[in-house]
Amino acid sequence: MTLTILNSGSTGNGYVLQSDTEALVLECGVPRQDCLAALGWQTKKVAGCLVTHEHGDHAHYIEDYLQLMPVYCSKGTAEALCYKRSRRPQVLAPLRTVQIGGFRVRPIPAEHDAAEPFAYIIDHEDLGRLLFATDTYYLRYRIPDMTNLLIECNYSLPLLNANVEAGLIPAALKNRTLDSHMSLEHLKDMLAANDLRKVAQIVLIHLSARNSDPQAFCREIIRHTGKPTTYATKGLTLELNTTPF
Ligand SMILES: [Zn+2]
Ligand SMILES: [Zn+2]
Repeated sequence: MTLTILNSGSTGNGYVLQSDTEALVLECGVPRQDCLAALGWQTKKVAGCLVTHEHGDHAHYIEDYLQLMPVYCSKGTAEALCYKRSRRPQVLAPLRTVQIGGFRVRPIPAEHDAAEPFAYIIDHEDLGRLLFATDTYYLRYRIPDMTNLLIECNYSLPLLNANVEAGLIPAALKNRTLDSHMSLEHLKDMLAANDLRKVAQIVLIHLSARNSDPQAFCREIIRHTGKPTTYATKGLTLELNTTPF
């Protein structure tokens, strides 16, 4: 299973998981053309698109995507997004697993300043179990048997504090960041609380442009977990394996 990063961060989010025969799109925060290009214009193989929440960097282009594929999100997210047209996203219930093509998808509540944000546990025979969690300052669930993590690592507290002290970040924005995004420190706690024995790869996403140091964050997570760790950059393509070795 291949993962393509269309974009990641506050300027827009989009990810494509695909095999030769099927695909699952994550988020509608990049122009549809970018998604289609990553799919080699094979829209028929798309089982669906999962949206985490209504913020523009994740859902701005949802109406364009709805014309081509079923889009799934929480009831709160669907209600927060206003629709002038007849096509609407399909509503998923928290903690209720659904089958979307060859993907088994379990939405779990996330912690973010949005109506009803979700993270997703995604199972597929070619993928094992992927956790997709972004825009959540922590995760209240332990997730067994993960093989791959696509997870937010937005900032580190020392970098955020230094930027506030330097006057680069307003204090109000700092407070919003603390209450809505995953820090390096919280991610380490989350990883320590989970059984990572089956994890093959960790991909850090939604890094803050100002409050992150991507290479240092990867080194820190590798040191902490012993797992191959990389960070999302626009256009990056990765093979996701089901086994660590
Ligand atoms: Zn976001
Ligand atoms: Zn958000």
